Amino acid sequence: MTETRDARGRLLRDLRISVTDRCNMRCSYCMPREHFPAGFRFLPRGEILRHEEIARVAGLMVGLGVKKLRLTGGEPLLRADLPKLVEQLAALPGVELALTTNGVLLPRYAAALRQAGLARVTVSLDALDPEVFRRMTDSTFAPSDVLAGIDAARAAGLAPVKVNCVVRRGVNEREVLGLARRFRGTGCVVRFIEYMDVGETNGWRLDEVVTGREIVDTISRELPLEPVPSQYDGEVAKRWRYADGGGEIGVITSVTRPFCGACSRARLSARGVLYTCLFAEAGVDLRGPLRAGASDDELTRTLIETWRARDDRYSELRSAGLVRGERIEMSYIGG
Ligand code: SAM
Ligand code: SF4
Ligand code: SF4
Repeated sequence: MTETRDARGRLLRDLRISVTDRCNMRCSYCMPREHFPAGFRFLPRGEILRHEEIARVAGLMVGLGVKKLRLTGGEPLLRADLPKLVEQLAALPGVELALTTNGVLLPRYAAALRQAGLARVTVSLDALDPEVFRRMTDSTFAPSDVLAGIDAARAAGLAPVKVNCVVRRGVNEREVLGLARRFRGTGCVVRFIEYMDVGETNGWRLDEVVTGREIVDTISRELPLEPVPSQYDGEVAKRWRYADGGGEIGVITSVTRPFCGACSRARLSARGVLYTCLFAEAGVDLRGPLRAGASDDELTRTLIETWRARDDRYSELRSAGLVRGERIEMSYIGG
């Protein structure tokens, strides 16, 4: 079995692929409308990696030990012919292929994605109350559109569906309990995510972070929870189960309890830059060499060198009060 370890001994195991920098929402914590207004110049098509280029990089990374691929963005379902890309990636040996989406286009694409070989989806849903949802996502969509997407995914066999909810103090923390209640007993695991300081545009402040501890306490007061031991190294969500057997929730505590020590994720941006941390200031361009005719051996060497040199641990440094410079936007680098 091939293993590639970074400077801190962490294995390369996951690759997140941003297939587009565009989105049909303007979540305040990710692509605030002041910075991504109507007429914003997203990457032109020619600057974005083509399907074959993505599949080639993914294939080489699988050769270096990657076991999980996740398609993300921007909103990945806006990428033309996504099922065709899924088909190419699903053909890679020994990988689990998943997708993170805001869900509103799933009723249109879920069946085709499943048929193309997609295994699982994670759907983002920050509120069940339409007004709170609108404030979080700054879009014309409603929670019912996302719920219809979740239903479509389940009906297509993309199960179990995970639901991601970013919690922002003063905006949607009152939705936490309602979301927990709504999905309890359905087989869908809701993962509550601490609001993170990704990118430079969301004006992040620490006092807007609702901590994982607060989230668990809020739910547990009404629906008692107990911790579930983690199943594997590198598991980002802390798992909790309902004491009465109603299923599980997850809490992603990147701010209050960082998990850099086991982070096995690389990220490929829509324009073909490889990043070794969500909070990276710079990455390694792969599109140039890909389009200049680099051989598989040459590309593999670049990938190995990049991973071996990796020393990132931004969230741990943030906790220690040691963070620095400009960060790439989440919609480019892929959440
Ligand atoms: N558009 C898709 C979606 O919303 O699921 C995929 C891309 S989105 C960048 C991936 C995930 O990142 C979403 O679950 C989103 O909630 C999360 N996210 C975006 N900005 C965040 C932030 N500042 N803090 C925490 N999570 C964030
Ligand atoms: Fe779009 Fe997802 Fe970012 Fe919201 S979180 S703006 S849906 S990319
Ligand atoms: Fe991984 Fe970077 Fe997040 Fe740490 S801050 S868990 S190294 S992506």
